[in-house]
Amino acid sequence: MRSYFKNIYLTFHTILKGMFLTLKISTQAKATMEYPDVKQELPPRTRGRLFNKIEDCIGCLLCAKACPTDCITIDVIKRGKDEPTPRTSEESGAKPIRFWIPQFDINFNLCCWCGLCTDPCPTKCLTMTKEYEFSAYKKEDLVFRFAKDPYPQTIQANQQ
Ligand code: SF4
Ligand code: SF4
Repeated sequence: MRSYFKNIYLTFHTILKGMFLTLKISTQAKATMEYPDVKQELPPRTRGRLFNKIEDCIGCLLCAKACPTDCITIDVIKRGKDEPTPRTSEESGAKPIRFWIPQFDINFNLCCWCGLCTDPCPTKCLTMTKEYEFSAYKKEDLVFRFAKDPYPQTIQANQQ
């Protein structure tokens, strides 16, 4: 008989305790947000997806050498003596671009977001953006290709 009343007491006590807690939390400021409709403002030094403004890349390979996981693959070809040498933008120091860059890939399957590749970049064209929403179903879709230069026709012929 004693345990019967004890159970009744515990039942009501638990319900009241739960309701009190719900009431208390409901008056507090929201701790959650309706992502993805609402997004949290990220800190200024957030490390998101890498971006290479390829027009300002001089193909120096410093980023690839600094990468601890070897996830940057670059192929460069020296411009011929007779070919004009373009320059990077003024904001990147107007440096001469002495190489064609037919391949500049970053494999985000391997990237550990350490940021070591961005530090040595002499033109500051390689940056970490705040972009973090780029999940993919296939690993191949996480390899980002920035190069715009085609391989010279002689090399293309050898590759076929
Ligand atoms: S952030 Fe680090 S791991 Fe990722 S590409 Fe740059 S150096 Fe490599
Ligand atoms: S360090 Fe900068 S300029 Fe040099 S290859 Fe990498 S992205 Fe291009």
